[in-house]
Amino acid sequence: MSVEMANLVTGLRSFYRSGATKPLNWRRHQLQQLLSMTQTHQQDIVQALKLDLGKAEQESWLAEIGFLEDDINHSLKHLQKWTKPRKLSTPMVAQPGSSWLQPEPLGVVLIIGAWNYPFQLLLAPLVAAIAAGNCAVVKPSELAVHTSALIASLLPRYLDRQAYAVVEGGVQETTDVLTQQFDHILYTGGETVGKIIMKAAAEHLTPVTLELGGKSPCIVASDCDLDVTAARIVWSKWMNAGQTCVAPDYVLVEHAFADKLIQAIQNKITVFYGHNPADSDDYGRIINPRHLARLQSYLQDQDVIFGGQVDEQQRYMAPTLVRNPAIDSPLMREEIFGPILPIVSLDNIAQASDFINQRAKPLALYLYSRSESLQQQILTSTSAGSVCINDGMMFMANPDLPFGGVGNSGMGRYHGRWGFDTFSHLKAVMKRSTWFDVNWRYPPFSAGKMKLLKMIK
Ligand code: NAD
Repeated sequence: MSVEMANLVTGLRSFYRSGATKPLNWRRHQLQQLLSMTQTHQQDIVQALKLDLGKAEQESWLAEIGFLEDDINHSLKHLQKWTKPRKLSTPMVAQPGSSWLQPEPLGVVLIIGAWNYPFQLLLAPLVAAIAAGNCAVVKPSELAVHTSALIASLLPRYLDRQAYAVVEGGVQETTDVLTQQFDHILYTGGETVGKIIMKAAAEHLTPVTLELGGKSPCIVASDCDLDVTAARIVWSKWMNAGQTCVAPDYVLVEHAFADKLIQAIQNKITVFYGHNPADSDDYGRIINPRHLARLQSYLQDQDVIFGGQVDEQQRYMAPTLVRNPAIDSPLMREEIFGPILPIVSLDNIAQASDFINQRAKPLALYLYSRSESLQQQILTSTSAGSVCINDGMMFMANPDLPFGGVGNSGMGRYHGRWGFDTFSHLKAVMKRSTWFDVNWRYPPFSAGKMKLLKMIK
């Protein structure tokens, strides 16, 4: 444990204990500062994301900058309502009295971000932590080098340094920061590191929110609107070159419909990114050579029916379709997290839920179908963090929906009020009156008191 890290967290904790982060006006000011930082430095953020991931400006705006701005504005709009006591009913036995939940901040929290949406995935949890009245340490992913450096330089200029700190670095720095005691840890990233985070948190009995990943299935029934379905699958799969935790990982489709769907997907890829996506300004790059090599290895011994081209210099991999991969191949065992889409065909679409249920619970599940009964069947027979029917990833645009996984795809949730609640303790309060005090619960006990007790219970 480094002395420097211990001093950092001690400093934040003493500021938290001063009560300075609790007034709503103070929280509002910090949120407005974060908004101002995002707006003033929009071009710097776009540039950093371009360097890290080759993100197009519009994509950066949609999924990172605009997303964060909406999140801040939503929190500013609802902050007062969220912080109010939440009234609950009080049973007869505790009358006269009243009961409520009183949200209170947790204290000093740690937020660890991932590299694929390196701006938004770090700062959206921070919005929730600020709104709830906490101090925070944020740890950007070291793999998104430019975005990490930008956040480390900007955040201290806009937010109160006594309350918020950025710790940059990789395994060593994260291991170091994890030795400190926090009141909550929100981690976004893969499952293996998720377990490391949870073990470190257990040392201090610190609660965790783990935003993990997994293989998110996309079921396409033959009664879907083919053109819209293909457009939405291509948009959600190849945004950020497939490096999205909620991107469709693989498609399940009936044998008889597979050719039509594949053709429609290929057409949309060409409409969106041209005949050579390497030349498109709108198509991203793989974060680093290690991940590119990982993705290339997934294509070994597979039936690549579209794409597959790689340019190592550019960290480029084309939008790629693989038909009916071996179910026990790495492509179908590991989360792909890149621009490869396996198309798995089934005899009957009704087999889709069995296929999904034989695997770990996914972060997101997509179904394209007009059939209400199939929609109900999939909803009731499978489990996933989120489900989106007839679109991909659009559920992320609704701040009223919680975002988080289930089982191996994570635990806990955030976005909007859900994030506020994650970084709050909902303190249970009961308030009694003293003007009326029957003695039924006090010794000495008697048959009469027992009768009364049973009556009012
Ligand atoms: P990553 O390599 O950026 O790691 C995430 C964080 O963990 C980083 O801040 C990193 O510094 C830290 N870390 C790495 N190794 C560590 C160690 N040994 N000890 C302590 N900390 C360590 O990201 P990744 O794991 O490659 O991310 C990809 C995964 O994240 C995918 O599974 C994806 O689905 C998931 N993901 C989930 C979400 C979500 O919101 N649910 C969002 C994005 C990514």
